[in-house]
Amino acid sequence: MVHFCSVGRNLTVLHGRIYSYIGEVVVSVNPYRAMNIYGRDTIEQYKGRELYERPPHLFAIADAAYKAMKRRNKDTCIVISGESGAGKTEASKYIMQYIAAITNPSQRAEVERVKNMLLKSNCVLEAFGNAKTNRNDNSSRFGKYMDINFDFKGDPIGGHINNYLLEKVGVKSVFKCIFQLVKGAPDAQLRSLHIQRDPTAYTYIKVGGQIKVFADFKAVTDAMKVIGFTTEEIQTVYKILATILHLGNLKFGSDGDVTLIENSKLVSVLGDLLSTKDENVEKALLYRTVATGRDVIDKQHTHQEASYGRDALAKAIYERLFCWIVGRINDVIEVKNYDARVHGKNTVIGVLDIYGFEIFQNNSFEQFCINYCNEKLQQLFIQLVLKQEQEEYQREGIPWKHIDYFNNQIIVDLVEQQHKGIFAVLDEACMNVGKVTDEMFLQALNGKLAKHAHYTSRKLSPTDKNLEFDRDFRIRHYAGDVVYSVVGFIDKNKDTLFQDFKRLLYNSSNPVLKAMWPEGKLSITEVTKRPLTAATLFKNSMISLVENLASKEPYYVRCIKPNDVKSPLLFEHERCKHQVEYLGLLENVRVRRAGFANRQTYPRFLQRYKMISEFTWPNHDLPSDKEAVERLLQGCGFEHDVAYGKTKVFIRTPRTIFSLEEQRAEMV
Ligand code: ADP
Ligand code: MG
Repeated sequence: MVHFCSVGRNLTVLHGRIYSYIGEVVVSVNPYRAMNIYGRDTIEQYKGRELYERPPHLFAIADAAYKAMKRRNKDTCIVISGESGAGKTEASKYIMQYIAAITNPSQRAEVERVKNMLLKSNCVLEAFGNAKTNRNDNSSRFGKYMDINFDFKGDPIGGHINNYLLEKVGVKSVFKCIFQLVKGAPDAQLRSLHIQRDPTAYTYIKVGGQIKVFADFKAVTDAMKVIGFTTEEIQTVYKILATILHLGNLKFGSDGDVTLIENSKLVSVLGDLLSTKDENVEKALLYRTVATGRDVIDKQHTHQEASYGRDALAKAIYERLFCWIVGRINDVIEVKNYDARVHGKNTVIGVLDIYGFEIFQNNSFEQFCINYCNEKLQQLFIQLVLKQEQEEYQREGIPWKHIDYFNNQIIVDLVEQQHKGIFAVLDEACMNVGKVTDEMFLQALNGKLAKHAHYTSRKLSPTDKNLEFDRDFRIRHYAGDVVYSVVGFIDKNKDTLFQDFKRLLYNSSNPVLKAMWPEGKLSITEVTKRPLTAATLFKNSMISLVENLASKEPYYVRCIKPNDVKSPLLFEHERCKHQVEYLGLLENVRVRRAGFANRQTYPRFLQRYKMISEFTWPNHDLPSDKEAVERLLQGCGFEHDVAYGKTKVFIRTPRTIFSLEEQRAEMV
């Protein structure tokens, strides 16, 4: 805790001490300036060390996760959370670099190849998954979970990536790869894509805002090549990006009752890029094929429907492209032909870089999903940390007194429970035939959740002026209250893309594109099954993520963003306090306080501290190491702050550890 409080003093951060611990949780504050603390020499200082032997650092946690994996054959995971711009992605990169640096001492070629692939895949994922937002110039718009597999020697032999909820292109953000293309692609390539080298020519870019750095087109293309994307695949990737830009510029007009495309020459550009006939493109943009009983008819879109369809298409093909890229990378990095009988157990370190709690001025479906994700992770944290502690105390024969903490399961249930959870109510609303509005969804929520302690709305608390009728509901999250606007919930949850577009893409003569849209194969009369809703997909992916993490030994990194202006000099106390609350750090401290901050085996403890007591230096003559440690700690007056287990000494407060460290430093 001593370390943690020091975060509060801006001087500490300004002086470059950006890491601290709560127990074994690393808290990091974004320094917003280059730090000289990730080099080879620092890596050497942390390699193979115990957490408390060196000042707090990300590398210490990476090493702890690695050691547990290697020495004890445990699958481990590192969960990194924090708000946008807090430093999560940078942290995940440093962790990867650390692991790459400390493994494969014998320089086996195959392992080096795997490491290279893993690092290259990061580069590609960043290009396609990151965008500029007003919070972060290089903001990851997706949650990423990456497994690294290790062989019995502790060297990386492969990996696997899962991605979660990619925010949609053209909504708020423009992805890096799009700038890289417009600014960095060679002239000839741009010509073939019918793209001008002028970002302002494209509506979607104008809406999203520009970024200053956009080099790297070549680096990304090269990385794709190294990973093993074929030339045809890479070309298709860029054709899809160009398609998105052109779609954004497509304008619809009307002539009486007839909807038409104003800039119709774009239709042939799209036909060319998508390797399909122009008239197919035009038809898919303007009409919808519907089955009425046994008849199949073409129904013309209204102006509004056509615009909606265009944007939905742009979003859907980007999302599909991203998932396809992740799938292709996985094909390459996944462990193949590993024979556990020959090589021993294949163990895993998972790294999760995922959006932390979001509370904006206006919170919508995306924030709702993200905050639900954080409730799930908090639940896991409670279970695992408590479970782990409890088990260790039992093993060591130390009495465990139950402590009170807020169990957020009730909020997890509020969101995900069958039939009456918010997702279930939303899905039910989306299932209704006929026009269902966001307001009707809110009414349904009010009906089902009127008595829930963590849910309210204006209808349920009429005097609350902060909530709008027919628009807002408020959830009391573990991290605080959040008001959500229901506007867009139905639409975003249905996430519908007209079947006509799926068929259009499936019928492309470009085999790469075709393969991305297998469901376009179904004819109109065959399409019966409703696709799963966005909420259900997200919920399912969160449940399996949490199951996966729960099977591993967890390590945590909590990132804090000290200010909103990316300044290395500013530490806004209120802002940080707020994050400390919603990152669950207070719960964290509470759980920790009830237990012991530090534990070490007796021999290990002696090895480190024997020089501070005459009874133990240079060697003790007591019957056991345990008794020697007891003697040493009595001598220092710490006996009230410790407990003696079967194999380990448990120290309640970090102050004691720091004091021991200080005494040690005086001696050596
Ligand atoms: P997040 O993934 O949490 O949204 P990032 O990891 O992308 O945030 O960090 C945002 C920016 O903050 C980075 O582009 C970088 O400029 C700065 N930053 C983050 N972590 C560090 C660090 N450890 N050292 C120096 N700068 C950092
Ligand atoms: Mg990020």
